[in-house]
Amino acid sequence: MGLLGVYNVPNASAALYYGLHNLQHRGQEGAGMVTFDDNGKCHRHRGMGLVDSIFCPTIINELKGSIGMASVRYGNVSSSGLDNVQPLFFHHTSGDFVVAGDGNIVNKQEIYDYLEQTGTIFQTALDSELLAHLIKKKNNEDRIENIINSLRMIEGGFTFLIMTQKRLYACRDKNGIKPLVLGKLGEGYVISSESCAFEIIGATYVRDIEPGEIICIDNKGIRSNRYSDCKEYNMCGMEYIYLARPDSDIDGCNVHAYRKEAGRRLYRECPVEADIVVGVPESSLSAAMGYSEESGIPYEMGLVKHKYMGRTFIQPVQSERELGVKLKLSPVHSIVRGKRVVLVDDSIVRGTTSLKIVKLLREAGATEVHVRIASPMMKYTCHYGVDTSTPEELLCSNRTLEEACAVLGADSLGYLSPESTTASTFGCAKPCLACFTGHYPVAIPEEKK
Ligand code: AMP
Ligand code: SF4
Repeated sequence: MGLLGVYNVPNASAALYYGLHNLQHRGQEGAGMVTFDDNGKCHRHRGMGLVDSIFCPTIINELKGSIGMASVRYGNVSSSGLDNVQPLFFHHTSGDFVVAGDGNIVNKQEIYDYLEQTGTIFQTALDSELLAHLIKKKNNEDRIENIINSLRMIEGGFTFLIMTQKRLYACRDKNGIKPLVLGKLGEGYVISSESCAFEIIGATYVRDIEPGEIICIDNKGIRSNRYSDCKEYNMCGMEYIYLARPDSDIDGCNVHAYRKEAGRRLYRECPVEADIVVGVPESSLSAAMGYSEESGIPYEMGLVKHKYMGRTFIQPVQSERELGVKLKLSPVHSIVRGKRVVLVDDSIVRGTTSLKIVKLLREAGATEVHVRIASPMMKYTCHYGVDTSTPEELLCSNRTLEEACAVLGADSLGYLSPESTTASTFGCAKPCLACFTGHYPVAIPEEKK
């Protein structure tokens, strides 16, 4: 999920529209936008598909105002469809408001029980709706108090943007599992899931929102509050490894620099003799560069990505994913023919991609294919909102390295260690690696029992 908010930015919708393009990689199932104009009137639009297909110039012109919020979402089987496209808009006598979130609340059952017992009914499966109802259950006059008290009730990995006619709020979970950054644009401000959205709209990076922090932006400027004393930097390791764009900086670490360092370390931990290094476009190219630099084995473009095709993991159903791999990548026969190839990928989830690519490379004439993965073996489910599948679907949940290698049909298989995965942030974060190690930085309720 990708979130974007602007405050005091003339033609907010245009800035949101362009910024949203740079967050498109965070979700391709749908997108939505909400603005408040100078009279406090709300304008909104949402749809299924890519940003470009949902918003046209006429719609952008109709979304008037200098304050607004937008999001892109990826689908999962449990919550797909237009109803689940954020931001969500709520009417209330105390003033209309808008909420959008990324990530996952892990104690949501407890919160659902509490809300339903007091008569709340729900229209979506979204945590944003849960938070909106929680906020409105609090009776304080002061809205920030209500938001803070609500945030104290929820656990998990999340970021939320909340907007009223005159204010924009942004908060990040106390373990810093999800990313959120603040930027400046003219006299106004921008909040984004990733800093790569700033460049395209001319905004400049100010700082990351801190774990456990909520900021409020209005005509008094920016005010920061803490809703928790806990301030960990357990950024989702998969953001660095795969999800984020290489031109984003997260908690002080550039994503491309992270991946390149992971690639260098991968060679040191899992060296192999070969003729060429080939990365799986696009998310693995930085790691492949690092592997090539460290090993001295030349980097070659052995695979070409077909443009205009979505990421395989964005499509919720396995049969669509399998077709996706074929439609997405072509081997460059004249480059790989007769070569011993090191195939570098950022991660293996179900194994669909690697299995197909090993086959494609062999069919194209590679004499050996050595698979090197710039992250550890993924064995566990993510409970913080990333769709990493159930343990039964994961290639490595119940397989040894040798068994996984046999399934892929590779000559050898090597993974980066959890220690090197952490060290690749250059000390900026102690990333969450729960889907690799099973150590969840925020306990999930079943484990508390
Ligand atoms: P798979 O084909 O299921 O093994 O998916 C792994 C490929 O998809 C890798 O090449 C990654 O670049 C990418 N990927 C990364 N994270 C995920 C995820 N959470 N779900 C699916 N695919 C992912
Ligand atoms: Fe990210 Fe994995 Fe942690 Fe989920 S469990 S937040 S995907 S590192």
